[in-house]
Amino acid sequence: MSDIKYKRVLLKLSGEALAGDQGKGINPPEILKVAEEIKEVHDLGVQIAIVVGGGNMWRGEAGAEIGMERAQADYIGMLGTVMNALALQDSLESVGVPTRVQTAIEMRQVAEPYIRRKAIRHLEKGRIVIFAAGTGSPYFSTDTTAALRASELNAEVILMAKNGVDGIYNADPKVDPTAKKYTKLTHMDIINKGLRVMDTTASSLSMDNNITLVVFNMNNRGNIKKVVEGEEIGTTVEGK
Ligand code: UDP
Repeated sequence: MSDIKYKRVLLKLSGEALAGDQGKGINPPEILKVAEEIKEVHDLGVQIAIVVGGGNMWRGEAGAEIGMERAQADYIGMLGTVMNALALQDSLESVGVPTRVQTAIEMRQVAEPYIRRKAIRHLEKGRIVIFAAGTGSPYFSTDTTAALRASELNAEVILMAKNGVDGIYNADPKVDPTAKKYTKLTHMDIINKGLRVMDTTASSLSMDNNITLVVFNMNNRGNIKKVVEGEEIGTTVEGK
């Protein structure tokens, strides 16, 4: 474990990371690539918890914009994350990594309910725990879930894997070619500058609980391992 910077990490995977080029649905070959990368990190002896998003399936906000009740639309979103979690579990187990899925909305036939102490026990035993159904409450996001679970599990860092963006910029680098990348920021910087990294609930929770966040590009193979080994490839967010 000598080259490892972080021994217990919380990896946040957006739904898009599991969707391939179109950004929609579940793409098993794409998920397998992600699973292989996660396995490399797991093989180092790092304890890994994963929060999966659901934006490839459904976003509650979008449902509300077209007339649905927000809370109802959010529940659909949370159920979408469960589908993603099961797909990721399938891929991780196919490459030989033991996993457990825990859901914040009970569905005992497909996964364990979220139990903090049990999740910690799984991590200690070398199992990857995948958290699904977000916080279990509408009006929240899976980024907030990541900040919450990282706090509960005493994870040292949230690894926020982004699709095609290698950190936090002062403008969207896909739109503005003059956009500049930050290497270090505080959570307060993100809130004050209105940077679109995570929602403010997630940022303030991370700030209050002193959680380090590393934002990096998921698309370059080996990046998760690099971050865990302490290489500074993205943007690190810590402190107030
Ligand atoms: N969601 C929710 N409560 C939570 C987490 C998620 O209601 O605690 C819903 C919300 O509707 C959200 C959807 O699940 O739009 C998918 O999650 P998110 O948008 O965070 O996924 P990501 O952008 O990471 O793919």
